[in-house]
Amino acid sequence: MLRIINMRVLLDNETSLNTLAAKRLKIPPQAVLEVVIVRRALDARRKSNISFVYTLDVKVAVPEGQVLSRLKGDKDISVAKEYVPEVIVQGQNTLEHPPVVIGFGPAGMLAALTLAQHGYKPILLERGRNIEQRTRDVSTFWQTGQFDAISNVQFGEGGAGTFSDGKLTTRVNDPLMRQVLDILIKAGAPEEIAYLHKPHIGTDKLREIVKSIRQEIIALGGRVEFESKVTDIDVTEGQLKGIVVNETTYIPCCAALFAIGHSARDTYEMLHRQGVTMEAKAFSMGVRIEHPQEVIDTSQYGISAGHPQLKAADYALVYHAKDTGRTAYSFCMCPGGLVVAASSETGGVVTNGMSLYNRASGVANSALVVNVTPEDFGGEVLGGINFQRKYEQLAFVCGGGNYHAPLQTVGDFLAGTTGSTAFATKPSYKPGVRAADLRQCLPDFVTNTLAQALPDFERKIKGFASPEAVMIGVETRTSAPVRILRGSDYQSLNTKGLYPIGEGAGYAGGIMSAALDGLNSAISIIKKSKV
Ligand code: FAD
Repeated sequence: MLRIINMRVLLDNETSLNTLAAKRLKIPPQAVLEVVIVRRALDARRKSNISFVYTLDVKVAVPEGQVLSRLKGDKDISVAKEYVPEVIVQGQNTLEHPPVVIGFGPAGMLAALTLAQHGYKPILLERGRNIEQRTRDVSTFWQTGQFDAISNVQFGEGGAGTFSDGKLTTRVNDPLMRQVLDILIKAGAPEEIAYLHKPHIGTDKLREIVKSIRQEIIALGGRVEFESKVTDIDVTEGQLKGIVVNETTYIPCCAALFAIGHSARDTYEMLHRQGVTMEAKAFSMGVRIEHPQEVIDTSQYGISAGHPQLKAADYALVYHAKDTGRTAYSFCMCPGGLVVAASSETGGVVTNGMSLYNRASGVANSALVVNVTPEDFGGEVLGGINFQRKYEQLAFVCGGGNYHAPLQTVGDFLAGTTGSTAFATKPSYKPGVRAADLRQCLPDFVTNTLAQALPDFERKIKGFASPEAVMIGVETRTSAPVRILRGSDYQSLNTKGLYPIGEGAGYAGGIMSAALDGLNSAISIIKKSKV
């Protein structure tokens, strides 16, 4: 096949890709047998000229060499490189017990699936409930404020990203990313995720994908157990011998993949108590901000806003405060979504964002956060957890003690007042919100940096710092507050057989990089050991 890169197609151009590819290759349209979209990105830098930029693989009915020699010197046309997945061969060491995967988030899911596909019959333990029950539990929490510490937005089948926007963007560049996308597509994700520059799945589709992957793991001989929290580990002379589930059941094991996510505070404490090497890590904290989606669309698309080919727009904003060295930035932006209650501990308020596949809520939200360094919490290994918890508990109090979240308009926030009720959008957070001063539930350095950043963001997106824009707090779970140190073979530095993986281990941030880490860690085990 021939590859065409940088092929620009204006928004209103309705010509078929086959015809455009033929034109670009200077061959008759009937000589184009097949066109595969490899990548599609949107270029909206020039608002009057918004276009899609394609990479296409084209199967042609004429000799490829002929086409290439006619287009000699055209750097955008070449022979397409085929993606050939690596064949993974089992290693020599025999695993005495089936591998255990702890946590059914993207990292654990991909690790368990990969191990199952290679005949390792993994045991997958998840502290929360299955996706069907979890969906009901989360809905109850959002509707009534009745919080469930076992089953919530952080814990349960699918992990933290299940009630999310399902953005699949990542800065990690690894050829195996393609394999992760193929697995998601096979499990029910839209095929477009394979080529879109900014793919997303949406909560509605994610739930089905998660269920389908669980069924495949079981069909391949794996075991999946819910409400099964790993509460202890058994280590002898630096080697993992077994794990304890729910403080009662002992499972002997020599390979346990800890894919516990960034919110398993009790599990971090247990691992720390057992002497597993870990260190404090930087993260970020702040608020969620909501705007009418049309404010963002107009800023990003100009007069083309609302064009049927354009999806709800996103943004990425960064502000560096020269005086303090702090950075404020937007994070996990959710076009057409909702702000959600993402608590995982009784008595704490945590915000996050989600959307459905069609991103049609009419409201844009994003975290606006400021970097927190280990020095901010004394550098103690578990200091970051206590730091997060302190502000989540303050937010709980500011919200009225019933999981309602503290809310302040941008106008009030900048003026140091509270109580305005003129909102640019109806606050989407459930179970509810309460007017409060966000400075009472966030560190000063966070609120001061946000106050400096907002006028700068207004210059970049008109209406961003409108006095009616809604800020809801607190956003504390941007990434893990600790790193569980591991070697290049994915094993803990001082506990052989313990594999800290995914976001909770501090080696990933987001669905794709966590999933990739799960896949890579499983491959590392397969290459080393046989069953
Ligand atoms: P997790 O997904 O956190 O999974 C860890 C699992 O381990 C959990 O299910 C937990 O219950 C379980 N567990 C913990 N301790 C134990 C134990 N002791 N025993 C048994 N089980 C245990 N990322 C994106 O890339 N795009 C997005 O759009 C996006 N939106 C998000 C929206 C929300 C509301 C949230 C909360 C997160 C979002 N994220 C998003 C972040 C993303 O979800 C995480 O980066 C990702 O889920 C990390 O994957 P993981 O497998 O490492 O951990």
